[in-house]
Amino acid sequence: VQRDFDVVVIGGGPAGEVAAGRLAERGKLTVALIEDRLVGGECSFWACMPSKALLRPAEALRELRRVPGAAQTAHGRPDVAAVLARRDEVIHNLDDEAQLPWLRSRHIELIRGHARIEGERRVRVGEMRITAQLAVLVATGSDAAVPPVPGLAELDPWSNREITTARQAPESLAILGGGAVGVEMADAWSSLGSEVTLIETLPRLLAREEPFAGEQVAAALGRRGVTIHLGARVTRAERAPLGGALILDDGARVESQRILVAAGRTPRTRDLGIETLGMRPGDPIEVDDHLRVPGLPWLYAVGDVNGRSLLTHSGKYQARIAADHLLGAEGATASVDTAGPPRVVFSDPQVAAVGRTLALAHEAGLNATAIDLETSGTAGASFWGRGSEGTTRFVVDCDREVLVGATFVGPDVAEFVQAATVAIVGEVPLRRLAHAVAPFPTRSELWLNFLQGYEHERDTTVHATPL
Ligand SMILES: Cc1cc2nc3c(=O)[nH]c(=O)nc-3n(C[C@H](O)[C@H](O)[C@H](O)COP(=O)(O)OP(=O)(O)OC[C@H]3O[C@@H](n4cnc5c(N)ncnc54)[C@H](O)[C@@H]3O)c2cc1C
Repeated sequence: VQRDFDVVVIGGGPAGEVAAGRLAERGKLTVALIEDRLVGGECSFWACMPSKALLRPAEALRELRRVPGAAQTAHGRPDVAAVLARRDEVIHNLDDEAQLPWLRSRHIELIRGHARIEGERRVRVGEMRITAQLAVLVATGSDAAVPPVPGLAELDPWSNREITTARQAPESLAILGGGAVGVEMADAWSSLGSEVTLIETLPRLLAREEPFAGEQVAAALGRRGVTIHLGARVTRAERAPLGGALILDDGARVESQRILVAAGRTPRTRDLGIETLGMRPGDPIEVDDHLRVPGLPWLYAVGDVNGRSLLTHSGKYQARIAADHLLGAEGATASVDTAGPPRVVFSDPQVAAVGRTLALAHEAGLNATAIDLETSGTAGASFWGRGSEGTTRFVVDCDREVLVGATFVGPDVAEFVQAATVAIVGEVPLRRLAHAVAPFPTRSELWLNFLQGYEHERDTTVHATPL
């Protein structure tokens, strides 16, 4: 069979769907979306969505327990069966039927099967040969990387696939990797009854964030019974009566029923035919700021597969930019996905950050300072109750007097990050930001504390005009 479209999109995860939708809707192009598993991708079924469904019930209970008056009624633990049933509802029992009307209403043709690139603007799915008049857009995502630990692969470790769709809480779970995925899964499954051990090679959790973020999350997880090994390398893995055992370089032996690998991702390019284009299977597809592959003007790559920023919203952002560029908007460039996109770790406490950390601001050569505050240091925060500690850091470029980074640690801070994103992307001068008054009594008065803190710090060095 021979088919012809204006654009062929390979991979129906969030990035591929957004690109296909925009090209069909705004560009009125004929678009094929090729998907070999479920439309919605990793995010909808095995990543963002199920993980948040697993985390939220215990978080809601802990929120209640912090608020005097409610705390007296909030006894007990999450009902595991009900949590898992809700998770199944959120992931539509691994059925993508609900995603299809969206595609149909935009006249996007869904082709089910595994796509391989055969050459310039040519793609093959089984016996079907497809040509793209304008472009091929790759959005194939990423898989969990299995670290090269001797003996580990033979133990069949779980990836995000198995852990997010588990039918019951493992009795014990050893997690390799203390990044966002490892931390969220440690939080979720410990609250659902698993005995969890978290192993991280670097000296702290969430190593790319401000140092206090990982420290505060580690302290909270530790209080809830998670065992954490920091600065620990797994030297080998072997079978054990319980399931498996991981042997650490400090001599510790961690036995568990299940092992989860959460130690990074590999781009899904192994079986994609990119060798026909001179690229190496397994490598990320490198792109320019238009998300286009240098030297191949007909090829774009968006989302996890290009390795720029492994987040759903980054992939969707890139998809919009790529589609607009393909539709002729020469100026469409992705500028913020590599310089600190917004990111949230939905542990308790949550970590929500955007832009640069202080260390990265200094590395970038900025004359930067940090204003550190108690996240709960506002009148509004009283209503979040007791024990809702955490630190907030605003990073300011002192030469331009604009915000370049912000990190919030505390309960329920995910939504805080958008205001900071607007201030950073808009490069709003702090002098102007001082007029963005926060309502009383909301936790957003953190912004008032920040501006006062910055003014105070500045006045101790130079006597400047007030903001
Ligand atoms: C546990 C976990 C939790 C996460 N939580 C969050 C979160 O809260 N927020 C957030 O922003 N990010 C989160 N992420 C990251 C997020 O899941 C990814 O960034 C996102 O899914 C990437 O989207 P994508 O469209 O690039 O790829 P994917 O979602 O991986 O979709 C790619 C699709 O392409 C298909 N495909 C691959 N190869 C082919 C082929 N050759 N032919 C046809 N189809 C193909 C795949 O089957 C898949 O459906 C999380 C990740 C994990 C592992």
